[in-house]
Amino acid sequence: MPTLVVQPRSRLFHGHDWVYASDVKIVTGNPEPGDEVILNDLRGKPLGSAIYNPRSQIVARRYSFRRQHLDADFFKRRIERAVKVRDSLGIDTNLCRLVWSESDGLPGLIVDSYGDHIVIQTLTLAMGLRENLIVEALIEVLNPKTITARNDAPVRKAEGMEVEKKMLLGEQPAPFAIQSAGMTFQIDVWEGQKTGLYLDQIDNYQLVARHAKGKRVLDCFSNQGGFAQACALAGASEVTAVDASESANLQAQANATASGLSIKFVTDNAFDFLKDSEKKGDKYDLIILDPPSFTKTKNSVNDAMRGYKEIHLRAMKMMEPDGIMMTFSCSHHVSTGEFYANIRDAAVDAKRSLRLIERYSQRPDHPILVGIPETEYLRGYAVQVIASW
Ligand code: SAH
Repeated sequence: MPTLVVQPRSRLFHGHDWVYASDVKIVTGNPEPGDEVILNDLRGKPLGSAIYNPRSQIVARRYSFRRQHLDADFFKRRIERAVKVRDSLGIDTNLCRLVWSESDGLPGLIVDSYGDHIVIQTLTLAMGLRENLIVEALIEVLNPKTITARNDAPVRKAEGMEVEKKMLLGEQPAPFAIQSAGMTFQIDVWEGQKTGLYLDQIDNYQLVARHAKGKRVLDCFSNQGGFAQACALAGASEVTAVDASESANLQAQANATASGLSIKFVTDNAFDFLKDSEKKGDKYDLIILDPPSFTKTKNSVNDAMRGYKEIHLRAMKMMEPDGIMMTFSCSHHVSTGEFYANIRDAAVDAKRSLRLIERYSQRPDHPILVGIPETEYLRGYAVQVIASW
C-alpha cells in the first residue's frame, strides 16, 4: 500500500485520526484520491490505515490502527459493531443514526435508520467510491426495504464529488410517519431536512418536557416540533412552535394532529418573531431555542455569537419569574465556554439572574470520541430566572 510519513507533533500523536496536508512529510507509492494508505511515523513505525484525498484539507483519515483493507468484510464488521453499540445503549435502532462517520470507524459514512428505510450519506471520496460495498454490507446486516443516498451535502464538493440524491435499493419511499414515545414524525427521506429528522435531539425532548407541566411553552426553530410535542404530551398549558420553513411546519402540524395534540404553529423568522413578541409584552414560562448552526467555519464564530446573543436576550426578557430557557448550539466551532459566556452576557443585558439547572448533549447515536473534539458538537443548557432587576 502507498504510505504517508507523518510529521512529529501532528494530531495523530494526540489521539486524533486526521492528517492535515501540513502534517505530511513524505508520500510514497503514488496513491490516488480515495485510496487506502498506510501511515508511518518518521522512523517507519506504522500508525495505521487511512483513506486518502489530497483535494481535501484533511488529506488522510485513519480508520484502523492496523493494516486493514476496505473490503466487504470490513464494512460488514464495522456496521455490525455500530449497531451493537446502539443496542447496548438502549437506543431504538429503528429510529436512529446507525453509523456516524469517524465515531464509528467509517470516516465520511453516515447511515440513518427509519425502520425498513435506510438513508446513507457518503461524504468522503473513499466512501463514495465504495458505495457498492457499503450497500452490500447494509443489506447483509440490516435487510432493509430501501436504501436512499442523500448525497446532497455541499461538503462532497470539497472532496471532488458530485452533489446528488439517488436510490441504491428499492423504490423511492413515499413520505411516511413514525411514532416515538407518543410523538409522531414525518419521514421524507428524499426532501426532508437532514435525512428526514434531527435524530440527535430525540432524547432531549423528554428531558426538556419534564419541566413543561402546566407551563406556557415556546419552541423556537421547531422543525417537526419534537420539543413542542413532548411538552404538550407532558401537560403544558399552551404550546407555540416557530419555524421559518413552511414545509417543516406542515410536517409538524401533521405530527401534532396524528399525536392528538393542540399546538400553535407559526411560520416566521424566529428573530423577527422574538422581537415582535417581546415588544408586544408576551410572556412564557419555558422557551426552547434550537437554531441551525450559525457558523460552519471558525471564521464566522463572531456572527454566530451575535445571533445567539440576540435570541438569548429576547427570550430572557420574555420569561416569567421562575421561567426556564433551554438553549442549544449545534456548531462544534462554538466552544462550551463561549456559548456559556454568551448566555451570561445576555443575562446581564436582560437584567436577569439565572440558575443553571441542566446540561444537554447529542444523543449517543452520535458518539463523542475523546480524541476527536470535532465529534462533540451539540451543547445545551437549561437556565432558570431567579431574579430580575
Ligand atoms: N428543534 C428541531 C431542530 C431544529 S433545526 C428538532 O428538534 O428537530 C433548525 C430549524 O430552524 C430548522 O427547522 C430550520 O427550518 C429552522 N430555521 C432556520 N433559520 C430559521 C430562522 N431564521 N427562523 C426560524 N426558523 C429557522
